[in-house]
Order: sequence, then structure tokens, then C-alpha cells
Amino acid sequence: MTEGMITIAYIAASVLFILALGGLSNQESARKGNIYGIIGMLIAVLATVLGAKVTGYLTIIICMGIGGSIGFFLAKKVQMTEMPELVAILHSFVGMAAVLVGFANYLDAGAHLEGAERVIHEIEIYLGILIGAVTFTGSVIAFGKLRGIVTSKPVLLKARNGLNLSMLLICIWMGITFVGAESISAGMWPLVIMTLIAFIFGVHMVMAIGGADMPVVVSMLNSYSGWAAAATGFMLSNDLLIVTGALVGSSGAILSYIMCRAMNRKFLAVIAGGFGTSGGTVASSGDGEQGEVSPVSAEETAELLKNAREVVIVPGYGMAVAQAQYPIYEITRKLRDQGVNVRFAIHPVAGRMPGHMNVLLAEAKVPYDIVLEMDEVNEDFPHVDVVLVIGANDIVNPDAQDNPGSPIAGMPVLEVWKAETAIVMKRSMATGYAGVQNPLFFKENTRMLFGDAKASVEAILASI
Ligand code: NDP
Repeated sequence: MTEGMITIAYIAASVLFILALGGLSNQESARKGNIYGIIGMLIAVLATVLGAKVTGYLTIIICMGIGGSIGFFLAKKVQMTEMPELVAILHSFVGMAAVLVGFANYLDAGAHLEGAERVIHEIEIYLGILIGAVTFTGSVIAFGKLRGIVTSKPVLLKARNGLNLSMLLICIWMGITFVGAESISAGMWPLVIMTLIAFIFGVHMVMAIGGADMPVVVSMLNSYSGWAAAATGFMLSNDLLIVTGALVGSSGAILSYIMCRAMNRKFLAVIAGGFGTSGGTVASSGDGEQGEVSPVSAEETAELLKNAREVVIVPGYGMAVAQAQYPIYEITRKLRDQGVNVRFAIHPVAGRMPGHMNVLLAEAKVPYDIVLEMDEVNEDFPHVDVVLVIGANDIVNPDAQDNPGSPIAGMPVLEVWKAETAIVMKRSMATGYAGVQNPLFFKENTRMLFGDAKASVEAILASI
């Protein structure tokens, strides 16, 4: 392929990526957006591989075969509830790729450049490896936290601010030493020291984040992975990688901003890492019982629903675990046929990834016009007869408003306790992801329907 053809292919791929992002901003066009993205990526890979710079096709084909098959089987096997972990680990790959490309680039091309060109190239390499290394370990810890193998509680070292500042200063010092280095071997050690510090910084930053603030971290790491890819693009002088990286980086940053607003957190504090913990006590699941709970049966729930005029369903992570979206839509249809106004209320951080609940409800073919955002529905709760909370916990916790000492204080929540009756479906009195007890369960107008959400919903359906 000639240079001109490659440039045209790259422009086409960039346009398709922008169309893909545009498509993904809306549920109805999301599928089309995905297809644009796939075609764009296919064009990008083909144009790059067929370019004059690329030789050694056998190695590329073998690596693509191995990587592609692992990706294919993982994507087929992964459960919807495991998607956030998969996304986190994929971010870590982008970070590691930036680190490896940076080192390879330094060892390979750095020596041939001179003067200002060489300085700029070395700065690109340094920043690319720095962002990549933070993204790599940060994403690995995020993966662990989402999977439950690393504690979801914030781990705060006493000297954390001092430690962060020292790491930053050493990285600046190493950067100056690196760029001024006479030879590759002299530049290698500051590069390696900075990489190790960046690895530690990534771990330290994400370990300090408490459970309820993880959504912001996931979208922030998404943004970091984009910038790492863009930095790799600069190192390799590949325009498409720069554009694609910048698209991912900036859309991730916008998503982080939206998430911050949804969680009532400060954006700049998130960018710096380790936020959302200073005002609150460290989350604890041992907050103790807060009174009596009133259990309810599936038959009684069905009776309440049949006699209601306004019903709001609040899905959470437990609905995803139980895969209860299909029978709940059956209930919705039956009740709506009987004249009951049933709507869904979606909290921006419900589940374990942005848009998690919307995806599940779309899968079950729930019409979009009865799926409302938190801001659209929160004022309606005083006029709602029955709220069905399905496997949600943190997003309906009144402590976020009433208890300034709570780790989730300040986070906007769905005010389900204002409805006439709130029915909470879950298996036990266990806490949600943030690890805090929920006073909603002990309120006078709350009824607890214990059991797996799918089994409970099917039992209600049978009684309706
Ligand atoms: P939570 O994690 O707060 O609560 C889920 C509840 O579902 C649990 O209390 C659990 O209780 C119940 N549950 C689990 N499995 C089942 C089942 N099979 N049947 C019935 N109930 C079940 O989820 P929310 O959606 O309310 O809140 C999301 C939380 O996750 C927030 O803290 C958010 O910050 C965080 N988060 C969100 C991300 C995002 O991007 N959306 C990313 C990372 C974290 P029990 O065990 O008793 O059944």
C-alpha cells in the first residue's frame, strides 16, 4: 500500500471512529455505532499491516492469531456481570503496550535522531511510558477490586500525600536526567526507575479509592488508556493512533466528568487520584443492625402491585447477577396491560459499569421511553405507590443524604423511601459494593423480599 492510500485509509478510519462514538451516545443507535467502530478498526489494522514499514508478516499473523483467539473466546465466555472486570483488564493491556513500545522505541530509534528532534522524541517516550505504567498497575488493581480479590475499601497510607509528592518529584528529576543523557545506556536507568515508580503510583492511587467511587476510577483509567495510546502514536509517528488515542482519552475524560457529577465528587481531585475518602469514615460492613426489618412474601408483593397505580422499578447490580431482567419485563407488561403505570428508574452508577442497567433492560426489550434517568424520576417518588428495588443497595441508601460521616455522603441517590411502599429484593442483609449498611431496610414503609432476585420475580409473576 502506498503512503497516500494509507493516509486515506487512516482518515476513513478516524471518521468511522467518530461516527462510532456518536452512535454509542444513544441506545437506539448504539448497535450501528459498534458496527462503524468494527469497520474502522478493520481498516486501521489492514492499512497499518499492509504499509511499507511493516515486515515479518509471519510473526504478526501468529501474534494476531493467538491474541485474536484469546479475545474471541474471552468475549464469548464472559458473563454480563464480569464485563467491568474485562474492560479494566483490557485497559491494563493498553498501558502495558505503551510501556513496551516506549522501551523498544528508545532502544531502537532514539539513537538516530539529533538535536531538538531527539529531545522531543525522548519526551514522548518518557511521557508515554509514564502514563502507560500508571494505567497498567492502576487497571490491574481496579480489576482486582471489581472482581472482589482486592478489598473494595479504601486503603489509605498515613503519608500518602507526601509519598505522592515525592514520587512526582523523583519522576520529574528522572525525566530531566533521561532527556539529558548522552547515551542509551545512560538514559536507561532513569527510565527504569521512573517506570517502577509509575507502577507503584498506579497501585497506590487506585488502592486509595473506596468502593462507591470505583465507577469514576474505571472511566478515568479508560481515559488514561486513551492518552497512553496517543503517546504511543507520537512515539511511532502514527497519526491514526494519535487521533484514536485522543478520542478515547477525551471521551473517557468526559465520561469521568459525568460520573463525578453523578457521584457529587470533584473532577480535579479524581484526576489527581485518591479522592472521596477524606470526608468520610472508611467503609465498614460492621455497622451493626439498625432495628427490625419487615419481610414480605411474593404473593403479598403481587397483591400490592396489582392494587397500585404508579410503580417504579429500581434495578441494581443484583438484577444483573440474577439475570432477572426478563421476568421483570414480563411483570411490567402484565401490569401495564392492567392499567398500572410502571416505569424504571436508573441511577448513573447502578451495577458495575456505566450504562450497565440500560444494556440489560435493552436486552430484555424494555421500551426506552419507560426507562428514566435519576433526575427525571426522583421528584416523583412521593406520588409512587410501590417501588420495587431489585438487587440495588448503595444507590438507594438514604445515608448518602442524612449521614455526613458516611463514605457515600453527598452521592445523589434514588429517594425510594418517599414512596408509599418500597419492596427490596435481595438475598440477605449484606451490604452493597461500598460496604455500608443501608437504613432503608429498616424504614417503616420498607418490606424485604428475601431470595434470589430472579426466583422472587418469577414467584411474583406467577401470582400476578
Ligand atoms: P450494590 O453493589 O450496592 O448492591 C447490590 C445488591 O444486590 C447487594 O446488596 C446484594 O445483596 C444484592 N444481590 C446480589 N446478587 C443478588 C441476587 N442474585 N439476587 C438478589 N439480590 C442480589 O449495587 P447497586 O447497583 O445498588 O450500586 C452499585 C455500586 O457499585 C455502587 O456503590 C457503585 O459506586 C459501584 N460501582 C459501580 C460501577 C459503575 O460503573 N456502575 C463500577 C464500579 C463500582 P445480597 O448479597 O444480600 O443479595
